[in-house]
Amino acid sequence: MKQTKFTSVWSKWVTEFLLLKKSYPSIFIWPCISIAIIIVIWTLTNAQIVQDKKQVQSDALKDVASLSRSYAQYLNRSFEQIDQISMHVKYDWENSNKNFSLEKLKKQGLFTASQFAVLAILNDLGEPVTSTTLIEKWQDTTLRGQFYFHKNNISSEMQISLPVVVNSSGKPVIHFTRRLDNLDDSFAGMVVISISPDYLSSFYDFQSLGLNGLLAVLSTDGRIGASRIGNKIPFGLTQAVSQDLPLRTFEGTKLISNEELFIDHEPRFLGWQKLESYPFYAVVGLSESELMSSHLDLLKRHRVSAIQGTIFILLFGIISTTMATRLAWRKHEARGVSDTYRLATEGTDEGFYILNATRDIKGKIVDFQFADCNARGANFFGLNREELIGVNMSSLQGENYFNTLLEIYSKAMETGFYEDEYKLPDESPLNMLWARRRLARSGSGLAVTIQDISAKKEAEEQLSALANQDSLTGLFNRNWFLSYLPNAIQRAKNDQTRLALLFIDLDGFKNVNDTQGHAAGDHLLKSVASRLQSVLRPTDNVVRLGGDEFVVALEPVVGENKPAKVAERITEAFQQPLWWGGQKHLIGASIGISLYPDDGEDTETLLKNADIAMYSVKASGKGHYNFYKPELYAKIKTRFEMEQSLVQAIELDQFVLHYQPRVNVISGKLTSMEALIRWIHPKRGMIPPVEFIPIAEETGLILKLGEMVMDKACQQISDWKLIGLPSIPVSINVSAKQFHAGGLQKKLVYFLEKHNLPAHLIEVEITESAMMGEDSNIMAELSAIRSLGIQLLVDDFGTGYSSLSQLQRLDMDVLKIDRVFTNELTRSKEGGIFFKAIVSMAHALNMTVVAEGVETTEQLNLLRDLSCDEVQGYLISRPVPAEELSGLMTQEFLI
Ligand code: C2E
Ligand code: CA
Ligand code: CA
Repeated sequence: MKQTKFTSVWSKWVTEFLLLKKSYPSIFIWPCISIAIIIVIWTLTNAQIVQDKKQVQSDALKDVASLSRSYAQYLNRSFEQIDQISMHVKYDWENSNKNFSLEKLKKQGLFTASQFAVLAILNDLGEPVTSTTLIEKWQDTTLRGQFYFHKNNISSEMQISLPVVVNSSGKPVIHFTRRLDNLDDSFAGMVVISISPDYLSSFYDFQSLGLNGLLAVLSTDGRIGASRIGNKIPFGLTQAVSQDLPLRTFEGTKLISNEELFIDHEPRFLGWQKLESYPFYAVVGLSESELMSSHLDLLKRHRVSAIQGTIFILLFGIISTTMATRLAWRKHEARGVSDTYRLATEGTDEGFYILNATRDIKGKIVDFQFADCNARGANFFGLNREELIGVNMSSLQGENYFNTLLEIYSKAMETGFYEDEYKLPDESPLNMLWARRRLARSGSGLAVTIQDISAKKEAEEQLSALANQDSLTGLFNRNWFLSYLPNAIQRAKNDQTRLALLFIDLDGFKNVNDTQGHAAGDHLLKSVASRLQSVLRPTDNVVRLGGDEFVVALEPVVGENKPAKVAERITEAFQQPLWWGGQKHLIGASIGISLYPDDGEDTETLLKNADIAMYSVKASGKGHYNFYKPELYAKIKTRFEMEQSLVQAIELDQFVLHYQPRVNVISGKLTSMEALIRWIHPKRGMIPPVEFIPIAEETGLILKLGEMVMDKACQQISDWKLIGLPSIPVSINVSAKQFHAGGLQKKLVYFLEKHNLPAHLIEVEITESAMMGEDSNIMAELSAIRSLGIQLLVDDFGTGYSSLSQLQRLDMDVLKIDRVFTNELTRSKEGGIFFKAIVSMAHALNMTVVAEGVETTEQLNLLRDLSCDEVQGYLISRPVPAEELSGLMTQEFLI
């Protein structure tokens, strides 16, 4: 498990490492450098060691040279001393006429030095004559050679023997001998001075020669003298050196490595020097190993430093190789990113660039360099890829524009991202008019994409001219308004002024559109637009938001009541009829006003609040203006809720009809009953029609509701019939909206047939304003209904615009005079006069006159006097549910 994990990590590492081929030089340079340094270190160290060794050797050779010189001097002196003593003794002996006693001299304190083992005189027969030691004991055969030499050679030269062991003492000595002459120069004997070899080797100094140093005295004729190695081999009989020592010059030095030449087989630095006056060499040797060992410390130190250096360099090598590998990997990844990015963008029409930031010492970005780009990107600059890569941004444009760019690019480095669309200034080297650029930070640089959007922008500019204008009226449109308003708000904010929005909605526009067709509607809108413009200053912006909704933006608003004045001017203007198609038309306008900053600080809120204010105008009777107030919103909200529950109420059929009788003034008989709708709300109880009919009319729900009323009324009549009650006509109220929607006649026929009723049992009440207008459709509809045999009643007469003369044109059966006038009857004289006039004119038109809202007998009596035909009102009965009516229906006289 562990094994496989390790293997997979390893193989991943290897494959990743293989990807870095391009970076191998920068990776492998580090181990190479390290190895090179290590080689240098060791070469230098070895050279130093060799150098040191050489130094030691040359020092050693110098040392042995000087030591051998000193030793030679020492020996020379020693030999001379002995020479002189022997000479002295010779002359003393020759001049004292053989009357000479060494014993005596010794007693006197002469020749007491310990080195003189023996001082003796032998006669011509070789017998000791006098001696510093006991004569009889002193018999030595070792002297025989020298004795005969002197006997046969008339030479006063001193002879020196090799160390020999004297018979009597058993100790090694060296004999120094000199010939004694008689007066006639014949052989008289010889002087013998024997000394211990120690005397000659006392030159040995451990300080300078070490433990294994060598001293030797060698005769020039190749005989070996005496030699000593430290304390190991004493100076005497044992020869520490071989005969073959290559001493061929007067003086010299040499490293002798030949193991055979020294008894202990130690290589030595040898120095030799010929004695000045004696045929001997003084030889000094220093043990090589001994000398070298004293330098081992130094060598060790060299090696330790070299090893430390090696370890350090190895670490350095490992660390720098790892770091180089990592860097290479990061570069590889970055290259991967840019490569894929480029690949991905190569086919597109976007220019893609990788820029590296150039920073000054303080770290501030002072320039950018193109590290990479795609072909398209280079093309934007009129270059090819190779030409653009490596170029500094600063060199591509003038200083001013470069500074602008640098600011944007630096900011993008800070925030990580920047995007915009911009029109290229003349200084820009990019060959396009409009560009979209996206800058994204990537590592230590920026990834930039640039897209040429010139064509798109051109099309957009052309379109926006069209897009900002309402094609019908030539006014600004909603699109323009939505981009204009935020700027206007900003201006007002900056200048600390106010801004007013007048939201204008035409009253009854939908009617015109529905009943007179779209062409008429369009006409109307055009006339409205020019009328609006005529009452406004050219600087006030008039916008058609859509449909019959307009907005006037007043900017700036200085005086308190300026918006009110403008709104007044507009409403006044709408009180004048509009002309088109050779006819005049009256159309009202409801205006809602919102102010910045009082009623909102953004487009949406200001527009919404102006709309609410407009809506409140509609709800409270139309044709004027209102400023936005927060409580309006609450009202509109309840109204909206009402709408919602009205929809539901229709679905659930929460409506009933109440009936109010209409009675003939003269006969007191029931002539008809008005069906009045009631909403039985499950929570609020009975809701009167004034609270929901206007809403139903505005929302169009009245059409459904109207049909329900027709259905219910017909149903009721047939129910009464079923239970044997007399058939009395029922009048139903039809609102203007229902009337204008058309098809009323067909519906009436439908319900009459559905309940199998004759037409005369249904009457239709229409307010006078609903019948106004020149539309021939209305006339046709009315006569169609009437031709069925349905009676037509003019409801609420006196409250609208019409006059009796206008009624003339319409064939109406009954005129119901509004209860306002019934009320006036008993209050003022004029009331009676007005009523009288109406009654007589109506009678002239062959219409029956009904007085509404009769509450008192006084009113009833007056009405009778005024020849009013019928009455309706609380005096006779309030509107009541159908079941409560059965009593009244069977009653013969209701008055
Ligand atoms: P309207 O057509 O003028 O109906 C007569 C209104 O006067 C009724 O009010 C009635 O209750 C009231 N009234 C009758 N006699 C008197 C009186 O002596 N004194 C006073 N002060 N009032 C009297 P209601 O039922 O509240 O209806 C109000 C209006 O709602 C109606 O006025 C009519 O325009 C409308 N309406 C009622 N039902 C319908 C309907 O089914 N369809 C349509 N489109 N409108 C309806
Ligand atoms: Ca009515
Ligand atoms: Ca009425």
